[in-house]
Amino acid sequence: MPRVEEALLLIRTYDPVSYRRVTHELERVRVFVVPGSAAVYRESLGTCQVDERYVRDSSAEFIASTIVHEATHARLARCGIAYEQKHRVRIERVCTRRQIAFAAKLPNGEEACEQAQDQLAGFSPEVFTNQAFAEREDRGGVEALRYLGVPEWLIRAILRVRNARIAFGGGAAGATAKMSSNNSSLNHK
Ligand SMILES: [Zn+2]
Repeated sequence: MPRVEEALLLIRTYDPVSYRRVTHELERVRVFVVPGSAAVYRESLGTCQVDERYVRDSSAEFIASTIVHEATHARLARCGIAYEQKHRVRIERVCTRRQIAFAAKLPNGEEACEQAQDQLAGFSPEVFTNQAFAEREDRGGVEALRYLGVPEWLIRAILRVRNARIAFGGGAAGATAKMSSNNSSLNHK
């Protein structure tokens, strides 16, 4: 069974309330390359995007708890709580606590639970600034291009064009920051 389906089955079996929320809040769960994040909730699409490398390397318990986390972002967004810089630590704490409560219900959820608890302990405002998001997305973007087999010379060329656009007042950095303010990412495995 594909890993994400296995994860959804775990949610349905061990936490029906979370499963109803996931199916209610998320139009779909999609797996592909997500630069700089294990998963992200795209509010404009109503979609939880999960990085295919994260899916490949993680157990169904981890993927399930990540989906529950992102569905909580969806719920908060639907309630009108914008993912603004000043609210991000509080929002991430809410989502991660929900994730922990879910993982605690799984027969083999101990590791996923502990990892989410570690994340919760490490949350601070500087982790969630627009600047920090932009830097993670930049680094993640390069890693994603390498993963997709883009040759190094082409990656360097892409970065040169992008840096030139920023130097000439182009929108790359601003666009990233704007995008970050509308998307909530789980930047940890
Ligand atoms: Zn989050």
